[in-house]
Amino acid sequence: MSATAIVWLRDDLRLHDNPALAGACERYQTIVPVYLHTPAAAPDWQPGGASKWWLHHSLKALQADIAAAGGGFVVRQGDNAGDLLDRLIAQTGAVAVFWNRRYQPGAARQDAAMKAALLGRGLAVHDYKANLLFEPDEILKDDGTPYRVFTAFWRRCLSADLGAGIERRILPAPARIRSAPGVGGDAVDSLKLLPQSGWDADFYRHWRPGEADARRRLARFIDTALDGYDTRRDLPAVAGTSGLSPHLRFGEISPAMALAHTRRRHGPSVDRFIAELGWREFAAYTLYHAPRTVDMAMDPRFNDFPWRRDEAGFTRWRQGRTGFPIIDAGMRQLWRCGWMHNRVRMLTASFLAKNMMIHWLEGARWFWDTLVDADLANNTLGWQWVAGCGTDAAPYFRIFNPVLQSRKFDPQGDYIRRWVPELAGLDRDLIHEPWKAKGKAKGKAGAAADYPPPMLDLKATRERALRAFQGRG
Ligand code: FAD
Repeated sequence: MSATAIVWLRDDLRLHDNPALAGACERYQTIVPVYLHTPAAAPDWQPGGASKWWLHHSLKALQADIAAAGGGFVVRQGDNAGDLLDRLIAQTGAVAVFWNRRYQPGAARQDAAMKAALLGRGLAVHDYKANLLFEPDEILKDDGTPYRVFTAFWRRCLSADLGAGIERRILPAPARIRSAPGVGGDAVDSLKLLPQSGWDADFYRHWRPGEADARRRLARFIDTALDGYDTRRDLPAVAGTSGLSPHLRFGEISPAMALAHTRRRHGPSVDRFIAELGWREFAAYTLYHAPRTVDMAMDPRFNDFPWRRDEAGFTRWRQGRTGFPIIDAGMRQLWRCGWMHNRVRMLTASFLAKNMMIHWLEGARWFWDTLVDADLANNTLGWQWVAGCGTDAAPYFRIFNPVLQSRKFDPQGDYIRRWVPELAGLDRDLIHEPWKAKGKAKGKAGAAADYPPPMLDLKATRERALRAFQGRG
């Protein structure tokens, strides 16, 4: 053991199961864990508002965790990561840089360039797989091309030879972090990541960013919700899913750890949960092999699709004032908590891309700005899947009917009551179609009178979409 190494932390803001951190602590006398904040030169999409809120708190939590382990966590901001890293190397005399690999197109390019430059100057570079279960290059069809269909991809991942790889040992947090002394940084507050508008007031009731809560959430999910996951995961009114997505997004917990802990149980719910982690893998894999899909349809037949412009309608969708209760409940949940239930993400996305025929990218950008779990791969795959233009996408004729879906997945209307309080007085039948509540019922419900009428005709817009999508999806 000798000398100093830098650990460049990015989407892996954790101490447990962090191969780059563990590797550096094992091999070097002192280490400098660092986060480099370079918003103007973000290699992919710049983080949205809700992600920045999460990042602020996650950095603070990690700073406290590293301090508790005896070390110091350096945060620095600047114009580009290369310059910041060079300065840190010069200051500390570091001879090696450790990081966990990233797979988004710009980030992967940046890492490759940085690695070449550092190696060229005689530094050692150690990079690890940490944020995915499988390297995207590992999984290819017999003809050497990437999979386009999830089931075939996931079957291959779980096949005997590859599947064994995910049984790896989960790394403990380093017992002690010995940091190089006297390396100054910027205060997290000076990064100005929090919104000024007060928009985040409710986020604090729903989330506690940081590794400790990620681990607590996983344990609670396994104790209270995993057993019924396969049936309850589609019900937005109940806490039937893990809520781990922002923690996974910022790497406060590794997918390997989520997998290892859930795999101690057996049954269809466990398989289903693991398959959802599989969708996360598939999204990262798809983006890695098809980087242009961040803003272009995977299916080229959609390049000249006649998307509509409708600023007023788009505003109503964003504000949760469409007149369709389940859609409005979802959009308001998103605004208030920075998160939306998966089933409702599908419904709100289908409503925008199919009934309203607004470009899926407009919706993807809004989600990007408002989701605390905004993830370039998952968001892109989710939107393209719903719009029918992605890989392994929903067929064009699947246009979710928000009323039928609402009756099926929120039968008592509890989810709607929670997020659209002006409808709370309607009974479990009318709450899905408040426009049918005439005079008496509406009056009795009081505030329901303030709720807007439906902004569009479901049948007519469905037919319009079918005509437009025919022959493309
Ligand atoms: P759980 O059901 O507990 O699942 C466990 C984990 O598996 C999740 O935390 C997530 O990491 C992964 N996962 C689950 N479903 C999916 C999926 N369909 N695709 C990829 N990974 C999945 N997820 C994001 O993390 N970030 C996004 O920006 C995002 N945007 C989406 C946009 C649209 C239009 C759609 C339809 C889905 C999107 N998803 C996104 C996927 C999914 O909705 C969320 O991952 C899920 O709702 C998170 O809740 P959870 O952690 O309780 O999930």
